[in-house]
Amino acid sequence: MPILISALISSAITITLLFIVATVPSFPMLLGTRFLGQYGLVQIALHALYSFILTYIFLGTNSRSKVRNTIWTLFSVIFFSQLLLGLLGWGIFLQTGNLHYPVPTLIISGPIFRGSGFFMLTLLASTMLLVGSSWCSHLCYAGAIDNLLANKNKKKRPTPSWFRYIRLVTLLLSITIPLILKLYFEVAVAHSAIISFIGISALFFLLSYRYGKMIHCTYFCPIGLVTNVTGKFHPFKIKIDKSCDGCGVCTLKCKYGALSPLQLKKGVPDIRCTLCMDCTDVCHNNSIGLRVFGRKKMALPLFYSIVVALHSVFLAVARI
Ligand code: SF4
Ligand code: SF4
Ligand code: SF4
Repeated sequence: MPILISALISSAITITLLFIVATVPSFPMLLGTRFLGQYGLVQIALHALYSFILTYIFLGTNSRSKVRNTIWTLFSVIFFSQLLLGLLGWGIFLQTGNLHYPVPTLIISGPIFRGSGFFMLTLLASTMLLVGSSWCSHLCYAGAIDNLLANKNKKKRPTPSWFRYIRLVTLLLSITIPLILKLYFEVAVAHSAIISFIGISALFFLLSYRYGKMIHCTYFCPIGLVTNVTGKFHPFKIKIDKSCDGCGVCTLKCKYGALSPLQLKKGVPDIRCTLCMDCTDVCHNNSIGLRVFGRKKMALPLFYSIVVALHSVFLAVARI
């Protein structure tokens, strides 16, 4: 698929999704329409243009890692800036005018506790359906922080093998604790539980800096486990072909720890792969890359036309 076609597809997806977002909900979701009424719809055209240019850049460069790091950080900065403005009293920068906790785990725990509010869960499920586990490499506001901290330390340390069980525990807790809180405790206790969880999360973010890997995302966050497991069954997958000479450069590049020598021999990364594409930048043999339904040809253009459109839409609407 020529780059131009992919860029046009990305723009078309962006326009379609943002048009739905701007017209279906009963309150204005776009900042443009919040401030400018109907004139604010011009924001849709700007995002379509952004998707067009960004798809072009992703498909035309050999430094996708740099581009991804930049746009992912940009998204997180915009997200948390809006949260800060909301905290300072500008409710217009919040999704519904009310403050919520910026914690990905609440995507699961929130609806279990409240028995309602399935918007984020639906958004996550739709994203996983379209682009597998790449929520955790392109689209999550919290993951971008983990990415920055992991990038700060170039010296990667090996992680203890028992770390891999932590996410299973946090996933079980993020389902059972809201049920227990709902049945037996006051709302104030739920707030204390969330604040404690944020404190523990912060420790794992610090470990990402210490180990030079995304420890919070790959060993602690239960949503990461959900996206990884779902990604295993998605048609978009990274594969390593027989031309691989085992040099290990991609292993050092993978901040998700998905490329051990054993996985290189098997020809696939392990379950923690989030389709970040950093490994594809560094392979001197072009031995590692994305496939869709096992085929190489359409994989990258299709992937970037969708993931860039989602990123652009998230930039427009994702706020607390
Ligand atoms: S693992 Fe959690 S914090 Fe990390 S990117 Fe995924 S959802 Fe976000
Ligand atoms: S960088 Fe390429 S050749 Fe080297 S181990 Fe990775 S896939 Fe194989
Ligand atoms: S295997 Fe490659 S695409 Fe997957 S997480 Fe690691 S660097 Fe990213």
